[in-house]
Amino acid sequence: MPDDAATPATDAEVDLTEPLARDDQPLPHSASGEVTAETDLSALAPPSRPARRWTPKRVVVTPAALDEEHGRRIVERVEALGIEVERLKANRLTGVRGETDRETYARAKSTLAVVVSPPSRRTLQPIAPSADWRVDLAEGCPAHCQYCYLAGSLSGPPVTRVYADLDGILAGLTDYVGTGTVTSRSRARSAEGTTFEASCYTDPLALDHLTGSWQRAVEHFGAWDAPVQLRWTTKYGDVDRFVDLPHAGRTRVRFSVNCLPVTRRWEGGTSTLEQRLAALRRLASAGYPVGLTIAPIMPLDGWREHYGHLLDLVEAAVAEVPDLDLTAELITHRFTASSKEVLLGWYPRTTLEMDEARRSVKRGRFGTSKHVYPKEVMGELRRWFEDQLAQRLPQCRVLYWT
Ligand code: SF4
Repeated sequence: MPDDAATPATDAEVDLTEPLARDDQPLPHSASGEVTAETDLSALAPPSRPARRWTPKRVVVTPAALDEEHGRRIVERVEALGIEVERLKANRLTGVRGETDRETYARAKSTLAVVVSPPSRRTLQPIAPSADWRVDLAEGCPAHCQYCYLAGSLSGPPVTRVYADLDGILAGLTDYVGTGTVTSRSRARSAEGTTFEASCYTDPLALDHLTGSWQRAVEHFGAWDAPVQLRWTTKYGDVDRFVDLPHAGRTRVRFSVNCLPVTRRWEGGTSTLEQRLAALRRLASAGYPVGLTIAPIMPLDGWREHYGHLLDLVEAAVAEVPDLDLTAELITHRFTASSKEVLLGWYPRTTLEMDEARRSVKRGRFGTSKHVYPKEVMGELRRWFEDQLAQRLPQCRVLYWT
């Protein structure tokens, strides 16, 4: 046990044994959370532009992570990219907190920590409606989406943590086969077997070039002859390393997409819509089951036209893909009082609508309330999406609407 385990981290330190996201989320990607101090981080949100592979400014590794084979693999991979890796003496990270919250945010968002997963993460949590179980291979993300689902649940500066004990995490999934309720209850999804969601608090393709974790997970599921499915969703298009992997159809990669006004205005640092759809086509052509996570859906002016254009682009992207297996998950925009506070702190000049007067309140577990669109608006959006998807992409199965 490291000698720092007994003393709590000071304000100047980040305790890397703690998960980044608090574990009180009723849904993935639901932007709920608790009160977090407001921070003035104006000017930090970069404009949406094509993503380059993320190069963290600082990479650290804890002693326990270096004891893990995958931890050493990550270090080798990062060093081979010419990035220096700092070997920490303990699980505490200093030098992240700056003079101002802006500085702290900027430093944290450009830092990668290779750590062992917190024990709380090794007991999987249900993650309806997306999957039976949530499995975390990392927490944190270098992108800057102005509605970020992660923002409302942070427990400290958003230093991205990647887990070195990957082999143990994957081996531990065996205990969950045949359990869970999402896929067993749904006739449309029963063929998926037990499903594991691996992108709840991160974006896999933003990090995989540094870790290789999702490549190994795809190979693990490919070799696992059991009724199981790995699932993850991404806003990146960096799929080169996945195309030829022996996936055996047991990984469904979904691309998080939106209409152009949303993706261009509010998804800083991610791949363009065109890049994501080209990546979807490549993986579908390589035999992967694929999906669309259309989120967050917003009734902007001209939404039918904008989302109609999105579906035109999807139709073109999947045209003539043999044996296409395509699903859609439809998630409307929502926010909580605390996620709004955090996001307005990070992006004070955002034009994203978060007006309680235009929303209805939806009460969730953990005493949270979310501001969602009123029933009539939700009904109109839902009917339109279900109708248009059925007409334009009849082979697409809609898994859920929320
Ligand atoms: S891709 Fe965007 S929404 Fe998803 S975790 Fe990263 S910043 Fe948040």
